[in-house]
Amino acid sequence: MTIHGDLRQNGHPRQLAIQYGRKQIEFQLSYSARKTLSIVVHPDLSVVVTAPKDAADDAVEEKMHKRAAWIVQQQRFFENYLPTIPPRTYVSGESHRYLGRQCRLRVHEGSEDVVKLARGQINVYLSDLSKKQRIKTLVVSWLHQRAVVVFQELFDNTVAKAERHGITAMNFEIRRMKNRWGSCTKEGHILLNPDLIIAPKQCIEYVIVHELCHLQEHNHGPRFYRLLQTLLPDWEQQRERLNGCVVEGSSP
Ligand SMILES: [Zn+2]
Repeated sequence: MTIHGDLRQNGHPRQLAIQYGRKQIEFQLSYSARKTLSIVVHPDLSVVVTAPKDAADDAVEEKMHKRAAWIVQQQRFFENYLPTIPPRTYVSGESHRYLGRQCRLRVHEGSEDVVKLARGQINVYLSDLSKKQRIKTLVVSWLHQRAVVVFQELFDNTVAKAERHGITAMNFEIRRMKNRWGSCTKEGHILLNPDLIIAPKQCIEYVIVHELCHLQEHNHGPRFYRLLQTLLPDWEQQRERLNGCVVEGSSP
């Protein structure tokens, strides 16, 4: 295990790394009163490990080697989730994900070009059914509009809670990012990936809360997790579900 020059200090996470094949896995290690080692891979690909207080470095290293394949796999999901979602062809009957649900796409003839969600179906009405490329344009822009509305609603609710804990956030921007669900800039702007619209609302909320916490705590240190825990007690469960969203999409 490579130790980037620090000893076990009170409360401060250590930056460590193990070698896995040709890959170096860097991780942040902190200690807590827990009995087992926990490994978390974040959407930003960072690896955060919490070990029991008395865990020896050898034992941590051994565990990390055992879970290395899994860690790399998790990072790959976050890295590649966009390309691994099978490409959509926008034909009637195709399944699309929206807020954690699988919704069938149905194309109908209609008096105007419009998309309407009804009974778990994404209904596309086209005035000219021969214009098949219109379907994709309509669905993509509908999903984007839904992302704007849903993210805003979740953001407003979350900010109200966060303000009580001294976090001030301006607003968010929707931006397509290659390997992140969310991000925040040094200037305090929160960026959300429009593809989050495929995930359940609680998972979107988790990404928003995670980024809001970074406005106060830049690193994934104990204070970051305390804040996250206060604002969203079930964040671990939501993170798991979000990971699940990625896994589902990755099946060929
Ligand atoms: Zn983070």
